[in-house]
Amino acid sequence: MSHDFLAQITGSFAMPAGENPTVAMIEAAYRHHGLNWRYINCEVSPENLKDAVAGARAMGWTGFNCSIPHKVAVIQHLDGLGESAEIIGAVNTIVRRGDRLIGENTDGKGFVKALRDIIDPKNRKVVLFGAGGAARAVGVEMALAGAAHITIVNRGQERGETVARLIDEKTPATSVYAAWEGAFAIPEETDIVIHATSIGLYPDVDGLPDIDLSTLRPSMVVADGIHNPPRTRLIRAAESIGCKTADGLGMLVNQGVIGIKYWTGIDADAAVMRQALLDLDL
Ligand code: NDP
Repeated sequence: MSHDFLAQITGSFAMPAGENPTVAMIEAAYRHHGLNWRYINCEVSPENLKDAVAGARAMGWTGFNCSIPHKVAVIQHLDGLGESAEIIGAVNTIVRRGDRLIGENTDGKGFVKALRDIIDPKNRKVVLFGAGGAARAVGVEMALAGAAHITIVNRGQERGETVARLIDEKTPATSVYAAWEGAFAIPEETDIVIHATSIGLYPDVDGLPDIDLSTLRPSMVVADGIHNPPRTRLIRAAESIGCKTADGLGMLVNQGVIGIKYWTGIDADAAVMRQALLDLDL
């Protein structure tokens, strides 16, 4: 009987790493699809990142994720970037192509993939709350997916203006910054409302971004980046108005689906991965 004791290795470099549930989700997919692959969750400090990447190369890892604090710093150790990672200026997924390590960013791609189950971003008008790493990735990817116009609403003006300018200058979409002072009224012509700040993330489970909920219309799609808990106050409020919604768990799962596609070439079963996360009862 022939055996294959040599698994393909993928994983994650981050610090801290102990609370990252990605390993459970990815390995559930590997098992479900009968792949002899592993995903190793590693805690790597900033000063060890260079050696960790060299180690992954030396051991023939097929790819890995980078999370906080390595998403920008890892770029100098790579051999190239995908289009959106280049614009965003941050990488969360590294893919080995031949002997080159290429950086991709699946934060926004996962969001768009999940959103497409509900609405095609093409030609849509978008209001995006937040201007941190997640919002920047989501905004750029929505623009590359054909969104017509993106209004960036952020507490800090400078960060908000920077993201709006980036989208406006580096993608086909137009984008402007709008100040977030008091309850933000969603313009009537908006198709998609995206929340990508950290408001509502556990343990802030009662957090609700300051949006004038009376300006939400049932025709609008409301998406929240918060995955824990998935049913945020914003999602519940939008549902009660009759809006279609997309939760942050869909974003997280689809990032994993895209990562697995990059690494293995297979289309992983998103339902199995979502269930693996729900089973953790985060
Ligand atoms: P950053 O720290 O880079 O950005 C935080 C953002 O939240 C900024 O826009 C900040 O505004 C805003 N913010 C924080 N507190 C408040 C507040 N009290 N009032 C108004 N605005 C506030 O974080 P990330 O962009 O990396 O992550 C943001 C959220 O997205 C996280 O909660 C994370 O859980 C989620 N996320 C989800 C993913 C998924 O797969 N579902 C993937 C990645 C992230 P300011 O600029 O004014 O400080």
